[in-house]
Amino acid sequence: MKNNDCELSRRQFIKNVSKWCTKTLGVLFFPYLLTLRTGFTRAGQEKVFEPSYLKLLTSSELKTRSEALWEIMVSCELCPRKCGVNRLKGKRGFCQAPGATLVVSAFHPHFGEERPLVGYGGSGTIFFTHCNLRCVFCQNWEISHLGRGTKTTIEELALMMLALQEVGCHNINIVTPTHYSPHLVKALEIAAKKGLRLPIVYNTSGWERIEILKLLDGIVDIYLPDFKYWEGEKAAKYSSGAWNYPDITKRAILEMHRQVGVAKPESDGILRRGLIIRHLVMPNNVSGSERIMEWIAQNLPKNTYVNIMAQYTPLYKAFDYPEISRRITKEEYERVVEKAKKLGLTNLDIQGFRWFLGSIEKVPQASVRLRQIGPYS
Ligand code: SF4
Repeated sequence: MKNNDCELSRRQFIKNVSKWCTKTLGVLFFPYLLTLRTGFTRAGQEKVFEPSYLKLLTSSELKTRSEALWEIMVSCELCPRKCGVNRLKGKRGFCQAPGATLVVSAFHPHFGEERPLVGYGGSGTIFFTHCNLRCVFCQNWEISHLGRGTKTTIEELALMMLALQEVGCHNINIVTPTHYSPHLVKALEIAAKKGLRLPIVYNTSGWERIEILKLLDGIVDIYLPDFKYWEGEKAAKYSSGAWNYPDITKRAILEMHRQVGVAKPESDGILRRGLIIRHLVMPNNVSGSERIMEWIAQNLPKNTYVNIMAQYTPLYKAFDYPEISRRITKEEYERVVEKAKKLGLTNLDIQGFRWFLGSIEKVPQASVRLRQIGPYS
């Protein structure tokens, strides 16, 4: 009996141990299997993401691209102004960037960008100073026109990117990057080697040369261009003579779409790749909004992400131009949204009503009094 008892308990023991092992292994491995299946890590529920630039880093192509961009500054043609100044010798072109010196205004998580860029951790925004377009109504005129910021080395820019990743941002959102694109790519190379894994958002006026965009192919994961004007005449009037803005921007947006495709947020709601077009509706149809919606519907997929922005505010020198010296009305905004919907655009970012004035009949075409007493008159 004793032997039998002993046999039984040994069998029981083995059974218990095997049960325990099955349970424990299950607990340990189930989340791992889930990770393989869904792409989420166990630790932070963050989607496993590999930005495009990692491939270029491995093949040393990132270095080649940054050097090619840097070399363009010898006779600067980084943007459609094609000033031809030698920025490496400290010369300034139209954008007023101080030669090859990078000046950064600010960097911080931004919670006011498009929702799929902001997520829960914010968009890691870095504001570059100066601008090649220099619009008369610029809301960031102290940064873009006056160049208020701090001289920043490439290494410091890389550290900014890493710091934004560290605090939980979902992307590195470079505002007005065009004239500092060589600096961006050089810094990215350093940051990627140190562990940067966030997608780069190229937050631009849309007025980009195709040749430069091709050098950014495989580096930028999210393009965020404006499409500001339908008519070259308006672009020239409000954006420092940039009469070719509409044609160049159309070509640039098509190239951006070719590179990154339609913006589709992932299962966690965060966007990691794709094109978002921003269009700012301006008073008195100055921006030609309905024509722009038509062009998008005819030339890009119907599910292209289009942010129809309502927040136009007359700032800086806008009061020198009566037709743009007020906010837009509810009717003006709704007309554009209705047009976009009629055209079959399905991925519209539409804003609420907090920005709007009343009926269009009640809106003065220009605020002469403000022009006389305003801070910029
Ligand atoms: S980036 Fe500046 S210097 Fe270079 S072409 Fe454009 S405006 Fe001129």
